[in-house]
Amino acid sequence: MSWAKRKVQIKNPAEVEIMREAGRINATVHATVREMLVPGTTTAEMNDVAEEVLRKHNAISPFKNYPGPYPYPASITVCINEELVHGIPSSKRKLKEGDIVSVDCGTLFGGFVADSAFSAGVGKLSKRAQKLLDVTEGALMAGIDKMRPGNKTGDVSAAIQKYVESRGFYLTREYTGHGVGRKMHEAPQVPNYGTAGRGLVLRPGVTIALEPMVLVGTAQTKVLADQWTVVSADRSLTAHHEHTIAVTEGKPLILTVL
Ligand code: MG
Ligand code: MG
Repeated sequence: MSWAKRKVQIKNPAEVEIMREAGRINATVHATVREMLVPGTTTAEMNDVAEEVLRKHNAISPFKNYPGPYPYPASITVCINEELVHGIPSSKRKLKEGDIVSVDCGTLFGGFVADSAFSAGVGKLSKRAQKLLDVTEGALMAGIDKMRPGNKTGDVSAAIQKYVESRGFYLTREYTGHGVGRKMHEAPQVPNYGTAGRGLVLRPGVTIALEPMVLVGTAQTKVLADQWTVVSADRSLTAHHEHTIAVTEGKPLILTVL
């Protein structure tokens, strides 16, 4: 049975606290690799540094050996420009001035997973590229704001879709946000498009990784010959922001921050 069809796992406060710790470690990985976003850094170097940070915190990445066409070979994914998700770090891939770099990392700590991603520029970005980053981050925040008890997952999806499409950008239908906890991918599936009022009712203890994946020119994607890297079909710029969030009695709690 696919993860999306399973029962939603509600986390108790102690479990949310462990996920918060995993989220802090994940944010530390992000802060560390963010400093490496300068021309000449290879994406393999970024992966090495991420692994070092995880090791120091007695954590590992659930990405490593994740099942797919073949087991995923690294601990983070690094995507440049037209690469949307699942880019495999490589010692041959060097960052250049003006690149958009998207880093996705998961942290498995104390039996629980935190999952988050960010996109940022190398040096100075074009206006269009900067707008793409701002819209992607804004879409994530618009989705998070809907993660309140009594709302439904469709409210979250619809908010993200409206935010992005009203600004002239596109969202992939192929890859989605998801529940997260003991496993990286749990029910429910939370697409970046949808209808308000539909889906699962949110309640305290629901933990979800929201992750708008935004494209400048098309919603269509392709998978490269390495069988993992997903690119925009028209090779236009892309960006990806993700946080793991817990629904509480009050405001949504973002777990993947320092
Ligand atoms: Mg992720
Ligand atoms: Mg995710």
